[in-house]
Amino acid sequence: MSEQWNYANPVRVSFGPGTIGLLKEKIADRDFAIVTYGDNPVFERLSERVQREIGRPAAVVVNDVEPNPSYNGLRVQCHAFAAATHRPDVIVALGGGSVIDTAKVLAAAGGDFARVEAFLEGRSDPSQLLSVPIIAVPTTAGTGSEVTSWATIWDTDNKKKYSLARPNLYPEHAIIDPVLMVGVPRSLTLSTGLDALSHALESIWNVNANPVSANHAVFAAREVLDSLPSLIEHLGDISLRSRLARASLFAGLAFSNTRTALAHSLSYHLTLHHGTVHGIACSFSLPAVMRSVLGHNEACDDALKRIFGPNLNKGADALDELMAKLGVSTRATDYGISRDEWREVIEDALLGERGRNFIGSRDAVLAAAA
Ligand code: NAD
Repeated sequence: MSEQWNYANPVRVSFGPGTIGLLKEKIADRDFAIVTYGDNPVFERLSERVQREIGRPAAVVVNDVEPNPSYNGLRVQCHAFAAATHRPDVIVALGGGSVIDTAKVLAAAGGDFARVEAFLEGRSDPSQLLSVPIIAVPTTAGTGSEVTSWATIWDTDNKKKYSLARPNLYPEHAIIDPVLMVGVPRSLTLSTGLDALSHALESIWNVNANPVSANHAVFAAREVLDSLPSLIEHLGDISLRSRLARASLFAGLAFSNTRTALAHSLSYHLTLHHGTVHGIACSFSLPAVMRSVLGHNEACDDALKRIFGPNLNKGADALDELMAKLGVSTRATDYGISRDEWREVIEDALLGERGRNFIGSRDAVLAAAA
C-alpha cells in the first residue's frame, strides 16, 4: 500500500428498515423514471407502491430488466426510455445489480443505446455520453452497484464483457432498506452474499488498496462470514438481512475506490461461456486466490489477519470449509471447465483489466490452482 493515497465516494446513503419511505423526499418535485424487473408481481407491486407514495405517475416505467444486462436487452430498454412523455430528471432503480446497472446505461445513453455502444467499443469519447441523476434502491445485498460509478454490460452474442465507467454514474443517493430483501430466495441470498465477500477480499489484494478501502473491506468480510451461513437458514430474519445489507454496502465502498481483481477477472469466462451466476463465478476461486497471495504484501496480510486470524494458511482452509458448508464447490472442473482450459483462463484473466489489479504473482496463482 503506497504512503500517498486518496479515497472518495460521493453517494449519499440512507440505510435501515423503512428507509424506502424517504424516496418521495429524495425525488423532491422532479419528474422521475422507474427501472425494474419485468414479469414479476413483487416488482410490479413495488413500482405501483412507489408511484402511489410519491403521489404521481412516473414519466416512464422500464420494467423488463433481466439478469446480466446485455446489448440486446439494453437496446430495447433504451427505446422504452426514449418513449417517455418528457425526459425524466431522475431515474429510480428498484432492484439488484442488473437493474442499477441498467439505470446507469439509461442515464448515459438517454434513449439511444448506440451512444453507449460506440463509447464502450472505443469509437467515441465520454463527451458523447449523457447524464441523469440516479436514486438506487437495491433489493439484493451483494453487488454494491448503489455506491459504484460503473455498470457491467454483457455482449452475449460476441461473448464479451464491458464496463461502462464514468465518474458521473455514481448514484446521487442510495436508499438501502433491508425489508425489501426479505423475499430474496436462498440461492440468490447466497450468491449475492458471496459477491459482497468477493468485493471485500478483492479490494484488499489490490494495487489500488488504501487504508480506508481496507478498513471498509475488513468490516464487510467479517460480517459476511459471520452472518451469511445463519441468514441462508433464516431468510426472514430482518436483523441478519440488515447485517448482510450493511456488509454489502461497506464492500461496495471499499471496491468503489479499488475496483475488483483476479477472482472477478476469472469469473467473466465462467459467466459468458458456462452460464455461472455472477456471485458464484466471482467467489468460488477466492480460497485459491487468497492462498496464492499470502506473504506477498504486508498490508494485505495485515488486513487478511484482521479477518481470518493470525494463521492465514488456516484462514484459507477455513474459507474453503465455509464454501463447502454453503454448498459452493471451489474446483473449476465442477463448473464445466477442463484443467487445461482453466490454466488458459487464469493466464488470460491475469492480463485482463481487473486481473492487473491483483498484487500476487502469476506463478503463485498457477501453483495454488493446480
Ligand atoms: P440481479 O439484479 O441480476 O437479479 C437476479 C434475480 O433476482 C432477478 O431475477 C430478480 O428478479 C431477482 N430479485 C432481485 N431482488 C429480489 C427480491 N428482493 N426478491 C426476490 N427476487 C429478487 O442480481 P444481482 O446479483 O443483484 O446483480 C447481478 C448483476 O450486477 C450482474 O450483472 C453483475 O455483473 C452486476 N454487478 C454490478 C456491479 C457494479 O458495481 N456495477 C457490481 C457487482 C455486480
